[in-house]
Amino acid sequence: MMSYHVVIGVEVHAQLRTQSKLFCSCATTFGHSPNSQTCPVCLGMPGSLPVLNQLAIEMAIRVGLALNCTIRADNHFARKNYFYPDLPKGYQISQYEAPICENGWLEVSSHETAKRIRICRAHLEEDAGKNVHQPRATESRVDLNRTGTPLLEIVTEPDLRSAEDVDAYLRSLREILMYLDVCDGNMEQGNLRCEPNISLRATENDPFGTKVELKNINSFRFVRDAIEYEVRRQSKVLSEGGTIQQETRLWDEVQGQTVVMRSKEEAHDYRYFPDPDLLALNLSSEMIDSIRVTLPELPSSRKQRLIQTFQLPEDDAEILISSKALADYFEACVQLFPHPKTVSHWVMGELLRELNTRNISAQDSFMTPAQLIKLLQLVDQGSISLKVAREIFPELYAGGQNPESFVQEQGLSQVSDEGALMRFIQEVLLNHPAQVSQYQGGKETVLGFLVGQVMKASQGKANPGKVNELLKKALSQSS
Ligand code: ADP
Ligand code: ZN
Ligand code: MG
Repeated sequence: MMSYHVVIGVEVHAQLRTQSKLFCSCATTFGHSPNSQTCPVCLGMPGSLPVLNQLAIEMAIRVGLALNCTIRADNHFARKNYFYPDLPKGYQISQYEAPICENGWLEVSSHETAKRIRICRAHLEEDAGKNVHQPRATESRVDLNRTGTPLLEIVTEPDLRSAEDVDAYLRSLREILMYLDVCDGNMEQGNLRCEPNISLRATENDPFGTKVELKNINSFRFVRDAIEYEVRRQSKVLSEGGTIQQETRLWDEVQGQTVVMRSKEEAHDYRYFPDPDLLALNLSSEMIDSIRVTLPELPSSRKQRLIQTFQLPEDDAEILISSKALADYFEACVQLFPHPKTVSHWVMGELLRELNTRNISAQDSFMTPAQLIKLLQLVDQGSISLKVAREIFPELYAGGQNPESFVQEQGLSQVSDEGALMRFIQEVLLNHPAQVSQYQGGKETVLGFLVGQVMKASQGKANPGKVNELLKKALSQSS
């Protein structure tokens, strides 16, 4: 089979975290009984009029600014006309000629190199409802709770060249959306949806080939699987002298393949026209600037700052900034205990493991930064050993206890008291005369054995540094 060059452009639908819908005051919360969150506007009743949600506009602007876009002052809404049972109005309110955000870019790093992915547009639109097909039922039902939920559709130029590029782009985009607090970023729940458009060409100098759009991909893994499958499928068709049909295909996660959904319609099929029920938006530069100043530090600059301020390795910084809450947690810890490397080690290791098993964010951690730091201080002061700290971590985390009282109750304090340690040492020296004379005869490696014996006699609670020091002293004195 011939090998081709892959070209991909991505459309992402991000559900904006507003409490009410885009054009009515119905709630956007998920999981309520079907059609309980509807009103004449989102049910598409004739004569009802849409009222634009101001917060959705602000969120779209936040995203646009973070993605280096131009915010169009004069953007407006358009009707995209098509028939489907989950679309009671017979049209979707979207943006066509004049999207709210244009001409931006996002820098991502894929295959160890930084790449700038151009974003041609990001526009606001309303979501459709949901057709519910029960497995053995003879009828299908329609749930319009989701109808009218605000979406921001973010569209790239065909600048991506592999599944890895798409993965890197999606992860960066998701991080930004979550830092901006505008989207939950959960692909499994469908509040972040990715639709890659894929085409192949024989060489990089050829014009772009015919593209196929993929839908129904609901996890990062499936993004990769679906793209890799589709690239193989198209390569095979082309290698055998066939042509690619412009179409939309669905990812079937059970079969692990893409299947035709429909042949792709052209934009003119939708008969877009400006929605006469909605005024064009006239965004003032004051309004845009007032949003600009509220933007948080974004993941890429936060990563650079963590590297520079705390001398963290790039990989550590990358993991810490993967969620805003985790980075905040880390920084709260460093404030209390200025040893960034030790802190990042524990946050990325023990803490993240506990968070991941419970699938929760650092913001909901059972253990507060103050508690984690208390534990690290106990190690730092020599009150407990590193080994004990690691061992008790899961229990400490789960119980949310105060590390100090936990250590006391469990009798885990490390023995650093010289008198107590000397008693263990004397006992060990008496019981191992052979090793003692070997050491004194110059075989210094026996020291490790003797330290081990003291640790054993103390049931692991002796402070190993202290034991080492006292043991050497005792051995030199008894010779
Ligand atoms: P359509 O009108 O079919 O929706 P667009 O021009 O709006 O097409 O592009 C949709 C997405 O497809 C964009 O992300 C764009 O970058 C990408 N795209 C366009 N042409 C190609 C191509 N030949 N190969 C891969 N992706 C493409
Ligand atoms: Zn409504
Ligand atoms: Mg399009």
